[in-house]
Amino acid sequence: MEEIKGQLCPVCGKKELTLREEEMDIPYFGLTFLFSMDCPCGFSKSDVESAEKKDPVKITFNVEGVGDLNARVIKSGSALVKISQLKMSMEPGENSEGFVSNVEGLLGKFEKILEGQRDSSDDPLVCKKAKKLLKKIWKVKCGDVALKIVIEDKNGNSAIISEKAKVEKLK
Ligand SMILES: [Zn+2]
Repeated sequence: MEEIKGQLCPVCGKKELTLREEEMDIPYFGLTFLFSMDCPCGFSKSDVESAEKKDPVKITFNVEGVGDLNARVIKSGSALVKISQLKMSMEPGENSEGFVSNVEGLLGKFEKILEGQRDSSDDPLVCKKAKKLLKKIWKVKCGDVALKIVIEDKNGNSAIISEKAKVEKLK
């Protein structure tokens, strides 16, 4: 891992930002660069990029059992992640985080959003809905409920590594 300290932070303007770059060779995806920036002011950003130029991609994956939770997930900042059963999505863009994880880790990101809503919303309806969706994710993790995940990445920097993943060219 390469680390460069003392870089200019776009948020606080101080030269205290740390840049990190790491290379990972991911089977069935290829050489991948992982970038991250961290500043003591609280600003942080991360992303992933394939070394090889890839086509726009749409990945559909059905989580149908506990074994599917271990499938590797590469999600870049340009990816749109949709879980229609939860009526939730992660939008691509500047503030979108890129990461290499697995299906369980991806679901964990959605759980975190819901936990935040459950714990800090003043609206009882929002809390109730968040609790309901958290229960649903929990059932998915137990293998009791199936869940469809769709990832669309116009830069092709995302993947779910599984024979079960349906990969199409994004129109
Ligand atoms: Zn800063």
